[in-house]
Amino acid sequence: MSKNNFQDYVCRPYCFFFKDGEKEDLACCGAQIVERLVDSSRVDLMEMPPLQKEIHRWNTYRTSLGGYICRRCPFFAADCDFQAPDPPDDTEPCGGFILLAHLFDLKMIDTGDLEN
Ligand code: SF4
Ligand code: SF4
Repeated sequence: MSKNNFQDYVCRPYCFFFKDGEKEDLACCGAQIVERLVDSSRVDLMEMPPLQKEIHRWNTYRTSLGGYICRRCPFFAADCDFQAPDPPDDTEPCGGFILLAHLFDLKMIDTGDLEN
């Protein structure tokens, strides 16, 4: 998968972990799902209302969407504090999760969009 595409609309604007110019060998599952939805024209991010980062939103969806997004993420087991047991309340997920939670909240996607 090309990283150039989604870096511009997922990682750079929304991800706490993104470092410009730093090479990343793996893409998280959240970014991969967003890229699939955009590439298949299922989602047009230009139609998305502005995203404000809000802790309550990603905490609301931590378990329900995490089962679809995070369980198969290469960072789930060891690297992602967001899905660690008993994380601090202000632990931030990746940009992919933040964007998917926003789209889900807006009803622009449903759980069926997260399954493949
Ligand atoms: S964790 Fe995901 S959203 Fe964040 S920089 Fe890496 S690939 Fe992008
Ligand atoms: S929140 Fe963590 S485990 Fe979930 S998709 Fe993002 S990086 Fe992966």
